[in-house]
Amino acid sequence: MHPDPDQEPGLSTLACRAGQARTGELEQSEALFLSSSFCFESAAQAAARFAGEEPGNVYSRFTNPTVRTFEERITALEGGERGLATASGMSAILTLCMATLSQGDEVVASHSVFGTTVSLFKNILSRFGLKTTFVDMTDAEAWQRAITPSTKMLFLETPSNPLTEVADIAALADLAHENDALMVVDNCFCTPALQRPLKLGADVVVHSATKYLDGQGRCLGGAVVASEALIGEKLFPFLRSAGPSMSPFNAWVFLKGLETLVIRMERHSRTALEVAAWLERQAPVRRVFHPGLPTHPQHELARRQQTGFGGIVSFELADRRAAWAVIDAVSRFSITANLGDAKSIITHPATTTHGRLTQAERDTMGVGEGLVRLSIGLEDGADLIADLDQALRHAA
Ligand SMILES: *Cc1c(COP(=O)(O)O)cnc(C)c1O
Repeated sequence: MHPDPDQEPGLSTLACRAGQARTGELEQSEALFLSSSFCFESAAQAAARFAGEEPGNVYSRFTNPTVRTFEERITALEGGERGLATASGMSAILTLCMATLSQGDEVVASHSVFGTTVSLFKNILSRFGLKTTFVDMTDAEAWQRAITPSTKMLFLETPSNPLTEVADIAALADLAHENDALMVVDNCFCTPALQRPLKLGADVVVHSATKYLDGQGRCLGGAVVASEALIGEKLFPFLRSAGPSMSPFNAWVFLKGLETLVIRMERHSRTALEVAAWLERQAPVRRVFHPGLPTHPQHELARRQQTGFGGIVSFELADRRAAWAVIDAVSRFSITANLGDAKSIITHPATTTHGRLTQAERDTMGVGEGLVRLSIGLEDGADLIADLDQALRHAA
């Protein structure tokens, strides 16, 4: 029996197979094309390729078969029309903004986005005449109030970093469309394994592939998934001219990462919920942030919108001294600013990822001095809990 061609394959199948085009060698694993340029069979073919009259490879700044396979796979997983790979998550966001916005345009963004994303909007894009207004992502009226006739984009991350707040993607997409603006979701924390923003009405998904898409902390990369028109007419020409391109080697690593994405996200989610529920019962812990906890303010929304709650857990201790003492006392968590790795990670957001923001900005975001962020890896949950247990006692 052959599979029904009209039935959309499941996410795990897409994660293993979408986009692969075997060469004549019939390789099982995707081929890695480490070649900066590609040859033409004739002068006429070179001319046709350069003019875009004939599809095919030209130069790896904008056409590379391994990168294209990654683009097709992430596009299939997100349920979009076309994807574009970039050198990092930040360059995915930069490419999107440079390609779709012009001087005088405005962006409304959640103030709970990745710290460097705030810097990009506030300190860099502002110099090119783009204004960004930051709002509380869970306050629908605040989004509405911030929109002006110049607003061209709504931008958010859900769940947010580091407090795992959840925004209603479908409702905000409606608001964006009533105002002729693009709805953009940074889907880094959930990945398409747990949440598909385009299916909920968003126009654009951006990714830091550096995190869960790789899943093993090896490479930097990013991606944008949107309509054929937006990518083909706006983002691809920007990438071709400006060059924030993904390395084919990194694309190959991400392809290997994607094969295990669905099972990894299930395991990250399961262990994170276990750790979060345990932390909630510990005396020195004032508050735990994880969308899977029934005490989370948007728990019901997260249940509707996501198929799992993800691997990020944050918790609040009394002050910086207590937070740093726990960080220095754990042995099964790495102290690093990354997230989404097989190895669990512990971070003090106020002095690292969010350290370049002002105190006032951190206060509005709710990132206090006692906050600790965990990225729960793929180790045994019991071992992580035992480690946190001894560290909390040690810090007390
Ligand atoms: C890490 C991260 C980024 C930036 O990605 P890089 O690959 O580090 O450039 C953007 N958004 C979120 C949510 C992230 O966690």
